[in-house]
Amino acid sequence: MSLTIGAHVDQTDPLAEAAERGTTLVQFFLGDPQGYKGPEIRYAGGASGLRADAEVAGVALYVHAPYVINVATTNNRIRIPSRKLLQQHVDAAADIGAKGLIVHGGHVGKTDDPAVGFDNWRKAIDATDLKVPLLLENTAGGDNAMARYLERIAGVWEAIGSASQSDQVGFCLDTCHAHAGGNKLDTVVDDVLAITGRIDLVHCNDSRDAFDSGADRHANFGAGQIDADLLAGVVRSAAAPVICETPGGAVEHQADFAWLRERL
Ligand SMILES: [Zn+2]
Repeated sequence: MSLTIGAHVDQTDPLAEAAERGTTLVQFFLGDPQGYKGPEIRYAGGASGLRADAEVAGVALYVHAPYVINVATTNNRIRIPSRKLLQQHVDAAADIGAKGLIVHGGHVGKTDDPAVGFDNWRKAIDATDLKVPLLLENTAGGDNAMARYLERIAGVWEAIGSASQSDQVGFCLDTCHAHAGGNKLDTVVDDVLAITGRIDLVHCNDSRDAFDSGADRHANFGAGQIDADLLAGVVRSAAAPVICETPGGAVEHQADFAWLRERL
């Protein structure tokens, strides 16, 4: 099976990172993944240079949004800056010619009704000009998470469906998050497809922690607790481009690519 397999890399020169790994697919942050400061282009040629150089090199770019974005929350002081940051990242991702922006599902407070979070997702999609596809990613844990368990993903998806640009919203399935989040890997692709009808990207990661532990700690393939056949099975049946967000640099990533390719 010939799927494109790439990696999450440092943002300064993603094209050099791609070349080092022998891949044509990379994901990276634009600026600080833990802050509200807004996107930053660290590539020497700027946004237009990165876009042009990636095109020449034939490298597909994906941007991972900051972890602090939580458009579902009932807390105005987080939701409002989250929406702003989301739009800024969509704009920056479009500027560099990215294929998509990946964002975590977020969460509501312990005592909040999840339905409010679903509707906040709809409002966020309605309020955002989606110049590039937005890929909603499942998460491993989080109190009252929006995208850990399937029923919640279904709630978000149903709510988003009535937003004006819902066709620009896709899904990114993370294998570590699915496993640690308590979703069975032998059925998760079919289960997600039954809800979303699409899986646009796979974040393929082994998990340092046990099934349903709720812990988000990625591991290199074979070094974690996910069964090798199950991991490869998810990638095979999702049939989408693959990003490894596994520890290490080019050497470790190439070993992960080889491990996975052997099993596809
Ligand atoms: Zn991920």
